[in-house]
Amino acid sequence: MEPLAAYAVTESVSRGRRHAEPAPQGRGEFQRDRDRIIHSTAFRRLEYKTQVFINHEGDLFRTRLTHSLEVAQLSRSMARALRLNEDLAEAVALAHDLGHTPFGHAGQDVLDTCMKAHGGFEHNLQSLRIVDILEERYAGFDGLNLMYETREGILKHCSPANARLLGELGQRFLESARPSLEAQIVNLADEIAYNNHDVDDGLRSELLTLEQLDAVDIFAQCRREAEAQWPGLEGRRLVHETIRRMIDAMARDLVASTRANIASAGVETLDDIHRAPVLAAYSEDLSPKLRELKTFLYDQLYRHERVAKTIDEARRIVADLFAAYMADPGLLPLRHRARAAADKPRTVADYIAGMTDRYAVKEHRQLCGGGEFR
Ligand code: MG
Repeated sequence: MEPLAAYAVTESVSRGRRHAEPAPQGRGEFQRDRDRIIHSTAFRRLEYKTQVFINHEGDLFRTRLTHSLEVAQLSRSMARALRLNEDLAEAVALAHDLGHTPFGHAGQDVLDTCMKAHGGFEHNLQSLRIVDILEERYAGFDGLNLMYETREGILKHCSPANARLLGELGQRFLESARPSLEAQIVNLADEIAYNNHDVDDGLRSELLTLEQLDAVDIFAQCRREAEAQWPGLEGRRLVHETIRRMIDAMARDLVASTRANIASAGVETLDDIHRAPVLAAYSEDLSPKLRELKTFLYDQLYRHERVAKTIDEARRIVADLFAAYMADPGLLPLRHRARAAADKPRTVADYIAGMTDRYAVKEHRQLCGGGEFR
């Protein structure tokens, strides 16, 4: 295997863990981070959390878990192509959505509204909170005690107020410094994954049609290429041959254009990466095509009336649950009650955020007399 680039994150330049631990045997520090994330409770819950389609809608749609695995695959491939730390990229990718509430963005938005007077709720910050505080797996510390650079990669954005509370990790938001290139790559791998799998899931659910997608430049172009190579191809195979070409075009463009940005910025060390502008980016040729695809998905899929209907119901469930636990913290499981005595709103938000879609529906039915979902 090729050696890592001089500006890749390595154990020797890492700022390490918050609690000192003996070095791992037979694996690297960032491999250990990945392994800790995979063994966490929050990671297993991703299986039953919504990406776009509510978990019960069908077994073939993406969930947060399969989305995270796709992000990890793309991140690893692109990190390797750029000679970056693949283990770090993988760890960040697998952890990037751990803090998502049930019911996707609808759940996060309503929980944020409920928490307005208590510091708000933000799923990205919640991912960090899970790996830093909420996972209960080790005798010697709370959370997973991950490497600094893994935590830095998980925290994609942060308000100045929250950054000030986070100490060393928040510093870069106050200084407008960049995270590692590994983190920058994962951020865009996330986008490549959802833009493509949402097209796939949109077609599978029949909320989108091939005819509609033909109006989107990058889809039409990749479809033409697939049909030129395989005349007469149709159905699922045509969809898949088109989407795999889109994924490939985006990933290759990102690697080539990031490589060019690295060269022209003249970066040589990890410190240079922190000080340079964001270097992981698509080419000027591809960027507008991606914007077009995103706008299309936003208008035609995320705001589709069938999706909107489930979103309304999801909002009601989360808001009702929040009100119920706030009114009577005795409804929380015993192990959360001591924390609730110290900070009731945050404990309730943590508890709700940790729920899977189906658990939230079940709790809602029990506590608030809600019926079946939809
Ligand atoms: Mg994601």
